[in-house]
Amino acid sequence: MLNNYGEVLENASLLNYNSYGIETSCSFLVKPNSADNLKELLNYINVNNIKYYILGKGSNVILPDTHFNGIIISLELLDKVFINNEIVTAECGINLSAFIMECINNGLEGLEYLALIPGTLGGALYGNAGVKNHEIYDNLVSVEVIRDGKYLLLNKNDINVSYRYTSFKENNDILVRATFKLDKTNNIDVLKDRIKENRIKRLETQPLEYRNAGSVFRNPEGDAAGRLIESVGLKGYSVGDAEVSTKHANFIINKGNASSDDIKKLIKIIKEKVKEEYDIDLVLEQIIIEWD
Ligand SMILES: Cc1cc2nc3c(=O)[nH]c(=O)nc-3n(C[C@H](O)[C@H](O)[C@H](O)COP(=O)(O)OP(=O)(O)OC[C@H]3O[C@@H](n4cnc5c(N)ncnc54)[C@H](O)[C@@H]3O)c2cc1C
Repeated sequence: MLNNYGEVLENASLLNYNSYGIETSCSFLVKPNSADNLKELLNYINVNNIKYYILGKGSNVILPDTHFNGIIISLELLDKVFINNEIVTAECGINLSAFIMECINNGLEGLEYLALIPGTLGGALYGNAGVKNHEIYDNLVSVEVIRDGKYLLLNKNDINVSYRYTSFKENNDILVRATFKLDKTNNIDVLKDRIKENRIKRLETQPLEYRNAGSVFRNPEGDAAGRLIESVGLKGYSVGDAEVSTKHANFIINKGNASSDDIKKLIKIIKEKVKEEYDIDLVLEQIIIEWD
């Protein structure tokens, strides 16, 4: 039955669907092969009262250690891009970097600052991904979502957005397609060089040789979470195989077999120590998922 909607894997490992590399699994992993099939799948899930969760590339989540008795929906087959002059529409399962490189190769600029953020376009929009001074929303025109089983076109102004927050979260929206207005450029090589430079910077400052899920905490107003964590002496501190990176203290790395529990215990310790010494409540940037 689930095969009607796309590719189906039964008792699937989620190891490659979360960047921390937590070894967990689900009853079914379904990859819808069209937006309409995604919509039909959601209706089927709703009618049959089945538990489900949408995953992009899992580069911003802490999955539980336990098996998920339900359906994980991956949108990775929804990856088409349509370019019409400066207007670009893409399906939300596309890898963000691949999407941005396609824009650049077509002489379009505006998104290049975000080219090194791992994950999918949908994940980036859902969490309002960004780097210093640039967010995915800057060039956005509209997003098509599935809400309550129906397609809905939301213009940029219909969406509440702030630092790593969007109102999609409140409305249980599934993001299907997004449209951007970019600028024409002849400087394709300059953009590519800028991305190369940023890649070198990231390699120098982030522990990319280990599995991780990016910044653990948001930077508090006027300070940096990494600085606070380092100053309370937790750089290199570990719980099981989860360790506060010695390269960048706002990253937790998986040194091999870290469990979800190890990561969450380490997060608790960091929060407590920073609260104790600075009276600052660090806010998680990563999303802790509970299956129930
Ligand atoms: C090394 C590293 C560096 C990083 N650097 C940055 C950075 O510079 N800036 C930054 O902002 N982030 C950064 N991140 C975090 C992460 O890459 C982003 O948050 C990314 O946008 C998440 O995309 P994803 O597809 O992996 O989403 P996931 O982690 O799979 O999902 C995140 C949330 O989005 C929801 N979701 C995903 N797709 C959809 C959809 N189509 N419809 C509805 N809900 C959906 C999921 O249910 C989940 O709640 C970094 C991560 C890593 C590992």
